[in-house]
Amino acid sequence: MNRTEEISSIIKAQIEHYETKTQMTETGKVILVGDGIARVFGIRNCMANELLEFEGGSFGVAQNLEEETVSVAILSNRNDIREGTEVRRTGKVLSVPVGEKMLGRIVNALGEPIDGKGPVETTQARPIESEAPGIIERKSVCVPLQTGIKAIDSMIPIGRGQRELIIGDRQTGKTEIAIDTIINQKDTGVLCVYVAIGQKSTTVAQIASQLSRNGAMDYTVIVAASASESAPLQYIAPYSGCAMAEYFREQGKDVLIVYDDLSKHAVAYRALSLLIRRPPGREAYPGDVFYLHSRLLERAACVDEAYGGGSITALPLIETQAGDVSAYIPTNVISITDGQIFLETELFHSGIMPAINPGISVSRVGGSAQLKGMKKVSGELKLLYSQYRELQAFAQFGSDLDADTKARLALGERIVEVLKQDRNSPVRVGCQVAIVYAVTKGYLDKVEVKAIKDYEKRLYSLLESRHKNWLERIESGAFEDKEIDDLKAILSEMEG
Ligand code: ATP
Ligand code: MG
Repeated sequence: MNRTEEISSIIKAQIEHYETKTQMTETGKVILVGDGIARVFGIRNCMANELLEFEGGSFGVAQNLEEETVSVAILSNRNDIREGTEVRRTGKVLSVPVGEKMLGRIVNALGEPIDGKGPVETTQARPIESEAPGIIERKSVCVPLQTGIKAIDSMIPIGRGQRELIIGDRQTGKTEIAIDTIINQKDTGVLCVYVAIGQKSTTVAQIASQLSRNGAMDYTVIVAASASESAPLQYIAPYSGCAMAEYFREQGKDVLIVYDDLSKHAVAYRALSLLIRRPPGREAYPGDVFYLHSRLLERAACVDEAYGGGSITALPLIETQAGDVSAYIPTNVISITDGQIFLETELFHSGIMPAINPGISVSRVGGSAQLKGMKKVSGELKLLYSQYRELQAFAQFGSDLDADTKARLALGERIVEVLKQDRNSPVRVGCQVAIVYAVTKGYLDKVEVKAIKDYEKRLYSLLESRHKNWLERIESGAFEDKEIDDLKAILSEMEG
C-alpha cells in the first residue's frame, strides 16, 4: 500500500467512525410533557417506533414523526421527565427479554418481573414488533388444541395455529375459558402466554394463583399491564407477549397465547392516539386500529416443518356492550380471526356454563384438525342441538306436543346438561367422545336430567379405571367399528 492510499484509508476509517459517533449521540429536548406523552424537539433522523432514552433513565417509544418534533410515548411510571429533559436516540426498536426462564414468571409490558421472585436470568431479547410468517412458511392447521371444554372441543374445535376469538359481555366467563384452556395444556408440551391488558391487579393475582394451584404456571408466562399503568404500556403489552411466544415457536414448540382483552387494548391505543393528536375516526378510534390488531393476530400461525415447525395459537378476547357484535372493534377482530366463541349473559344467568351459544359460534379451520372419533360424534350433536333450540322456541307457545317433539325436547335438555361444565375441570378428549356418543345415541334417555352429572362421573371413572386402552386408541385418532363396538359394550355396562 503506498502512502496516499494509506492516508485515504485512515481518513475513510475516521469518517466512518465519526458518523456512527454522531448517530449515537443524537439528542433532543423535551418541550412538552403530560399524560404519558412527551413532545421532543430537535431529535433528527429518529425512526418510527424507535426506543428513546430520557436523561434519568426512563425510556419512551417514538410515535409521531413530525416536521419539527417527535411525539414520544413514555414507558415508565417514574415522574422524572420535565420540560428541558434531554432525550437520546438508541438506534434500536423496543425489545423484551425472552427465553425458557420467562416461564413461571409474571412480568410487565417491558418484560421486567413484577412477582417479587428476583430478576429473570435470561440473556436473549427480541423486538416486540416483528414480521409475521409468510405464506410459504405456513401450513394448514392439522393438530388439535384441546381446550378440555366439552362444548368447544366438540362443536367449535380449535387447531394449533388458529386464531379463535372469545367474545361476550362482561362477566360471561370469557377469562375462565381461556384459563381452563391453559390448564388443559398440562403435559401436552404446549407453552402458554397470558397477556392481561387493562385489568385490575387483583384480578391478575387471582388468575396467577388459579394457574399455579392447577400446576399450570410451570409452562406459562403472564404479561400484565394493569389498569393503573399508562396507556403506552397497555398498548405494547400484547406485542411483548407475542415476542415471547415467537421465541418459543422458533424453537419448534407449540404455543398458546391469550390476549385478555383486546377491547381494553383498543381503548388504550385510542387514549394514546388522541393525546398525540391523531385524527379520530369511527367511535373516536384512530383509523389504524384495525391494522393494530391484524398485525398482532397475523403473527399467530402454524409453521411448516421445513421452516422449523412450531405454532402460535391465539385466543383474543373481546368484551361487547349489551351483546352488540356490530360495534367497531368487535367487527374488526371477528374479521381477522378464524372463528369466534360467543358467550351470552342470558345463558350464563340461567346456569348454563360455559355460556356458549353454539348457534352463532364457529370455528372455520379447526374441524380439519379434530380427532376422527370426535368429528364423527360431534356432527350429530350439532344437528340435534340446533334442532332442539328451534323446537324449544316454538314449543313455548304450544301445550299439546306430539310424542316425537317431546322426545326431541327431552334429548335436547340432556345435551344441554352434558355440555355444562364446571370451571377448572377439563375433560380428556377420549371421555368427551364417550359422553357425546352416549347422549346422541339415546343412552341417556332414561337417565333423569338431574342425574346426568352423576352418570358422567361414573362413566369417566369407569373409562379411566378399566378402559384406559380404549381412551388411548381414541386419542391417537382411531374410531373404527371395533372402537364403536367397544364403546357400546362400555355403555351397556353402565346400565347394568
Ligand atoms: P370480565 O368481563 O369481568 O372480564 P369474564 O367475561 O372474563 O368477566 P369470568 O371472570 O371468566 O368472566 O367469569 C365470571 C364469573 O363466572 C367468575 O366468577 C367465574 O368464576 C364464573 N364462572 C365462569 N365460568 C364458569 C363455569 N363454567 N362454572 C362456574 N362458574 C363459572
Ligand atoms: Mg375477564
